[in-house]
Amino acid sequence: MNLILLGMPGAGKGTQAEHLQKKFSLANVSTGAILRDVSKSNTPQAKKVRQFLDSGKLVPNEIIIEMLVKRINEKDCANGFILDGFPRNLEQAISLDDASVNIDRVIFLRISEDEIVSRMSGRRVHLASGRSYHVIHNPPKIDGKDDITGEELVQRDDDKPEVIKKRVEVYFRETEPLLKFYKNSQINFNEIDASKPMKIVTSKILKALS
Ligand code: ADP
Ligand code: AMP
Repeated sequence: MNLILLGMPGAGKGTQAEHLQKKFSLANVSTGAILRDVSKSNTPQAKKVRQFLDSGKLVPNEIIIEMLVKRINEKDCANGFILDGFPRNLEQAISLDDASVNIDRVIFLRISEDEIVSRMSGRRVHLASGRSYHVIHNPPKIDGKDDITGEELVQRDDDKPEVIKKRVEVYFRETEPLLKFYKNSQINFNEIDASKPMKIVTSKILKALS
């Protein structure tokens, strides 16, 4: 089973990907997490990537497509994967076809712009694993610490109001056209109301997959 999770930043893609990964033993492929990891190294590419992340712009296709195709050719993706954050524009979507990547289903998490602002400003992440929490809706067991490792949780640099605004703008311009693209394709497509509590969103996704 190869899935794509689509939706505005903060819609809950990473949160739901974590559940699906556990339930179906799928590889969880978050391009945002891959890029955050790359941005931490001390290379010229890291510096370049960091500039895009910090400004809320998309990393150029020639960089991200190559990274993604390499990642889904890794062994753990052979039994299926969840793409969280890819594709984010038409060229990226077409690149999956070009690389003969089969996608079984696209799940679109629908949410309003108003809701994502509070979700992203309350988000706290464990950078090493990509696990995400929310100070109100999904707090860690111990304040500020990851439930599994006990390591520090951080607020993402791009979860600041001015960068959130830019990311939403980029979403509407570049990513939203993918809804039409996938609705008109042969790939199964489900739209889920992502404004509901996490458990309800999860059960709706599981229903769509059954
Ligand atoms: P995305 O991966 O789409 O950017 P996340 O999964 O990181 O989004 O979720 C964004 C924030 O919203 C996180 O802090 C997460 O804990 C919280 N969140 C996710 N789903 C819900 C939900 N259904 N209700 C309330 N908060 C949610
Ligand atoms: P995310 O973790 O999905 O919210 O992504 C965080 C940031 O990583 C985005 O704002 C982009 O700068 C970058 N990014 C993630 N996925 C992609 C992608 N598929 N294409 C280009 N940039 C991406």
